[in-house]
Amino acid sequence: MTRFENKVWLSSPTMHGDEIKYIYEAYETNWMSTIGENINEAERLICELVGCKYAVALSSGTSALHLAVKLSGVQRGDNVFCSDLTFSATVNPVVYEGGNPIFIDSEYDTWNMDPVALEKAFELYPGTKLVIVANLYGTPAKLDEITAICEKHGATVIEDAAESLGATYKGKQTGTFGKYNVISFNGNKIITGSSGGMLLTDDFEAATKVRKWSTQSRENAPWYQHEEIGYNYRMSNVIAGVVRGQIPYLEDHIARKKAIYERYKEGFKGLPVTMNPYNPAIMEPNFWLSCMLIDRKAMCKQALGDLEAHYISEPGKTCPIEILETLEKYNVEGRPIWKPMHLQPIYENNPIITRKGEKSGICISEDIFYRGLCLPSDIKMSSDVQDKIIDIVKSCFN
Ligand SMILES: *Cc1c(COP(=O)(O)O)cnc(C)c1O
Repeated sequence: MTRFENKVWLSSPTMHGDEIKYIYEAYETNWMSTIGENINEAERLICELVGCKYAVALSSGTSALHLAVKLSGVQRGDNVFCSDLTFSATVNPVVYEGGNPIFIDSEYDTWNMDPVALEKAFELYPGTKLVIVANLYGTPAKLDEITAICEKHGATVIEDAAESLGATYKGKQTGTFGKYNVISFNGNKIITGSSGGMLLTDDFEAATKVRKWSTQSRENAPWYQHEEIGYNYRMSNVIAGVVRGQIPYLEDHIARKKAIYERYKEGFKGLPVTMNPYNPAIMEPNFWLSCMLIDRKAMCKQALGDLEAHYISEPGKTCPIEILETLEKYNVEGRPIWKPMHLQPIYENNPIITRKGEKSGICISEDIFYRGLCLPSDIKMSSDVQDKIIDIVKSCFN
């Protein structure tokens, strides 16, 4: 097999034509600003699609998370329970506000925050008032269990649905389970604005505050009057044009992502691997990224340092790093599983809570990081190309 001439991406933007029409409209009408019809329409369409009352368009998912943390009233030194196996943007906004992230281990059923570990965390750190739960790779967390535990302990929930737009849990869209919820339109997400994000909520006052904060907290006065600290976090009307053009294609993107996931699943039958799991009886992921986990018995020796990785190749066995290096040789982009937050140097002093309590020994998020990887999941990848990629992955087990 030879190297692919065109790079196969992990997940790249897929445009459809309407995007440029709405960008052009912004230009023609001169709403080259953070006000305009594209913003209004993108917000309206997302409310309709997700089933929430208010959507506030912002410059990124990270800025939406920041304002969600601010809305939750986090004060300097406050503990906040956060998913451990997630992208750093889930957690960093807690630190922007002076909070102290405490990481909650994953479970094996969805790879997301473990409700049992969360309950343990409330025992160890009673009085914690905020929980940020992410839906990794487009698979909903055990949202009923998690929200019930939070309610019992009087804690607010922020749902980080940046990766899971369009996924449902018990028939309800993700991005509606928290008091405040966040979606992202970053370039690699299921639909994109090139960048951008939204804060979703049913709370009118919260939405009003976020609109004000995101546009520099100007008071209603003849001059620039400020009674609160403001931010320049509002979405551009040009970006909103891209988002507006993409929203009608969300379902199509999900269908294509799901077909990719199913093709991998079928193609890997007989290999000592499993795909990123979900429970089809209660949830429908958006299948943003297809991932695989190598059975322990099929793992060759692998060492993951802070900045580099090593492994010892062994017949009949492999490891994520060997597979990723092999894919790279064929011009195919894969990626390691997101490195757990508690292993990041910036968070090395923050606690990680497992089912057994404060961590001792390996935890589930670490195990998934060690044995898992993200497969190319680009919806422009043809089934022929995907079949070849499946063969490349298989060859690593020889
Ligand atoms: C992408 C992402 C974000 C951040 O969104 P941006 O729009 O890139 O700022 C937050 N959380 C998770 C889990 C993400 O994957």
